[in-house]
Amino acid sequence: MELRVLGCYGGELPGYRFCSFAIDGKLLLDAGAVTSVLRLPEQRRLSYILVTHTHLDHIKDIPFLAANLVEERFHQPVNIISTGQIIEGIKSHLFNDALWPDFTVLPTVEFPVLKFISIEPEVDVPMGEFTIRAIPVNHTVQAVGYIIHKGRSAILYTGDTGPTERIWEEANSLKDLKAVMVETSFPNGLRAIAESSGHLTPMMLKRELKKLRRKDIPVLLAHMKPQYLSLLRKEVGNMGRPKISFLRQGARYRF
Ligand SMILES: [Zn+2]
Ligand SMILES: [Zn+2]
Repeated sequence: MELRVLGCYGGELPGYRFCSFAIDGKLLLDAGAVTSVLRLPEQRRLSYILVTHTHLDHIKDIPFLAANLVEERFHQPVNIISTGQIIEGIKSHLFNDALWPDFTVLPTVEFPVLKFISIEPEVDVPMGEFTIRAIPVNHTVQAVGYIIHKGRSAILYTGDTGPTERIWEEANSLKDLKAVMVETSFPNGLRAIAESSGHLTPMMLKRELKKLRRKDIPVLLAHMKPQYLSLLRKEVGNMGRPKISFLRQGARYRF
């Protein structure tokens, strides 16, 4: 599968976009940077958006995508997928006809532009040529990471999380695992903020990666606060771990 980095940061500044990753042009992991990056024909190709949690930096472009596609006749709905509680949060706090129209009934009830799909955590769910599994992680609101399988490749994305256990146990049992995408938001000096906001620093990341038994799996870092990027590079470099790198906005990876 091809992973295209539409955005990979935990803050928005000129040249730095929020997290959103397109897999094979069809499936998005989070939607923090979609409509300002993808051209309209590319937006039309999107079928699935896996949402890790309700925080705005991970869902903010779903409303604008829906508005762009609502006039498209015969367009298949874009499926917004997450656990029941997260889907409920998006529906009731965002697509509530107050902040934004309810695009699950627009342009018509029969052929809406958005469809919400609730999935059970820790269960494999087929989505077209992909199989996805949501794994609960540890953030300030209910949040999940995802394992995405296609053919004989699987990748894992933590989304926003502090120290967590279950997703690493899952990673250890996946023989087709090709890469893990892990958040690292704050530098070591901001550990207290990282802890209270459910994020990781490089030092906390190091402890997390001890839980990943296979050391040959590439580790790709996401959700860096752009204002601390050079410090984060230094601190991650000092970890001395091979096969660890920062996701690059605009890059395409093949797994
Ligand atoms: Zn968050
Ligand atoms: Zn976030």
